[in-house]
This record gives sequence, C-alpha cells and structure tokens, in this order.
Amino acid sequence: MSGKSYTGLQCTVCRKRYSELLVGVCPSCGGILTATYDLGGVMISLQRGRSMWQFSDLLPPVSLECLVSLDEGWSPYVKANTYGRLIGIRDLWLKLEGQNPTGSFKDRAASVLVSLAKQWGKLGVFTASSGNAAAAISGYSARGGLKCLILVREDSPASKLGQISMYNPYIVRVKNLFSNKRTLTEFLERVGEVLPDWQNGFLWAPFNPLALEGIKTISYEITSTGTPDYVFVPTAGGDLLYAVYKGFRELYDLGIVNSLPKMVAVQGANANPLVHALDNNLEHVVEVEHAETIAGALKVNFGADHALNAVKQSGGFGVGVTDSEILEAQRDVAKMEGVFTETSSAAALAAVKRALAEGKIEPDSTAAVILTGTGFKDYTPSFASVEQIPLIQSTHELGGVVKEIFRL
Ligand SMILES: [Zn+2]
Repeated sequence: MSGKSYTGLQCTVCRKRYSELLVGVCPSCGGILTATYDLGGVMISLQRGRSMWQFSDLLPPVSLECLVSLDEGWSPYVKANTYGRLIGIRDLWLKLEGQNPTGSFKDRAASVLVSLAKQWGKLGVFTASSGNAAAAISGYSARGGLKCLILVREDSPASKLGQISMYNPYIVRVKNLFSNKRTLTEFLERVGEVLPDWQNGFLWAPFNPLALEGIKTISYEITSTGTPDYVFVPTAGGDLLYAVYKGFRELYDLGIVNSLPKMVAVQGANANPLVHALDNNLEHVVEVEHAETIAGALKVNFGADHALNAVKQSGGFGVGVTDSEILEAQRDVAKMEGVFTETSSAAALAAVKRALAEGKIEPDSTAAVILTGTGFKDYTPSFASVEQIPLIQSTHELGGVVKEIFRL
C-alpha cells in the first residue's frame, strides 16, 4: 500500500546508497542513513485525511496486511492568539501531538517501525525508554499482536510506567541505562543477541532510520495551513527536528511550497548537547557531562549530527531554557489556550518567548511549535494539596463560597 516511490537509504555522511530496508548506521562509514524517494511519481494531497498513511507514497514500503495503525497523525494545529499576544508574536501556531493514540508524536514512528517488524516476520519488539517511546512501542506492539520488551531506568516512578504497563509489555529495570550513549547501545545490542527474532525498536535514526519517516508527516500537515517562518522543536536525540525539516524539504523539492522554515532546536539550559554545538558552531554534537532538566523527555547528554546539520542548513539556531521558564510556559498555555502539554513540549513555548526577548525572531513572524506530548504524561500539580480547594457540604454554603471566590 505504501512505499511506491521509495528508492532506498542513503548515508548522510558518505552519500553511499543502499537499496534494501536497512536498520542501523551506514555499513561503510557509520553515518546516519536517511530514506530517499523518486519524487517524480509522487501523488500526495494535503487535504486532511484519516491518518498519516494518506502520505504512503512518501513512506517506507509496508504491505496492507502488515500495517499496524491506530489512525495516528492529523493532530490539531491551532493558533494561539492569547498566549501569542502575551509573549509578543503575531502568529503562533501549536501542533498538538499529544492527541495521537498513545499521547505523543512517537506514535507516528511506532506505526512505521512495528509495521516493518511485522513485515520482517519478527516475534516481538524491544526498546529502552520510560516515557513516550515506550508507551508508543508497547501500544503498537499490542495492536499488531507482537510481543514487547521495555528496558526502563531503575528509578522510573510507577506513575510513569502506569500507561506503559497497561499495554502489558515485559518490563526490566536497568541501572544507569541512560548514563551515556555507549551504555545504552550495549544494553540494546545484548538484547538483540539474546532475542535474535525480535526487532530493536529504539526510535532513533542511528538504530532505525526508517521509523522517523512517520514523524516527517507532521510537516505535511502543517503545510496545509501554510509554511511558518520558524518551527520550534523540543530536541533530545534529534529525530523529530531532522524529520520535520526533511518533511518540509520534500514538499519544497516537489514544488508544493516555495519557502522553508528556519528550524529552532530547543533543549534544557543544563541538558544541551545540540544547543551547545550550535552556539559554538561545532561540526559534531559532543556529549555533555551532566544533563539536568525538569523536562523528562529532554534529559539526554548526547545527540546526533543529522539534527545539527538540519538546523544549520535551515538557517536556524538553538535555544536553552530553564526549569522555571518551562513551568511558567506550561501553566500559561493551559490557562490561556486550554492546552495541557507535557513539560518537554512547554520547553519549546518558553523558547519562543526567549527568542523574541533576545531579538532572534521578529514579532511579526509566524512560528509553529511542536507540542510533542499530552500534559497527562509529565506535570507538576499547581497546588500542593486538595485541602487548598474550598469544600462545602450543602447547597446553603454554595452561595457564600462563590461570592467569596468572585469577591461579589
Ligand atoms: Zn556512509
């Protein structure tokens, strides 16, 4: 059903081409691979459809009988007038990826990856995550009838594993799982050796270059409303930012749009390997020693060059935001726009405010913000205890309490 125009994978470093559906990095030089298409025969409509699979011409080849989908994609794209006015920008648009089936943008990648795992005859899918990726991989594995194994960090709170455990994957806690890229890779490789008939479902281009093809459909959906001047992207491993830029580039190459947005990478001020590389004009993303941010999904001390190069090519920049800026943005967008988003997404909103204040973007520009996940995933309640909320026992008391609240 899909992949009609798919021509294979190409290395982003040495440019070598591979016709097969590879996983992992370039066998020749270790560079990140990226999917390519023959754009000549592509037929896509930007009219709103049922799911991201309406763009199947520009997705990897998946047969209809192996497709694992929950109608992901076509998340709302709404204008934030009140919040935009508060921070001083004319056109601010929010892509509400939290409304995907398991609550985040990772569903787009999981749908592609689990479908391919099924097509390759795999018995199960494994990954390492205690957040959005784990929820997506376990949910889609359940949907596809595949087994699932999730490695989580040893201190993952039960609240975070609640949604994931509902999909009933096997879960193993691992000490120091995300301490650095090497440790993580070693754990994933070891699982692959023990379970050779399973697919490594780690949603990151160096492991699975094809999965992020699902994510790029975010750009096709945004374009149906116009091309923004800037796209603000919360960034950890960099797949989301790279994929969104790739999506815009493809539409540009197809002649569907005639301009490209500048990509803005957003990270925590103290968890900023990519922003550090951008600020210092480095050629590669280098690991930072510590990664501390309240935004759980952005707590990484490593990155990859595909996102770095995408920001540079687009003429964009990086922004680091503090915990207090993130929490303020999370509360402001909820009370002003009715949008409840997770801390990692709120980081991107805080970054728009900071970029305006620092004169990096113009007040009369159009900015799109990718709000990656629903607020139910990761939030701090704004009151410490329910005792702070007025309590009444009878209708007689109601009038007095309401009058007190509204100072009538
Ligand atoms: Zn290569």
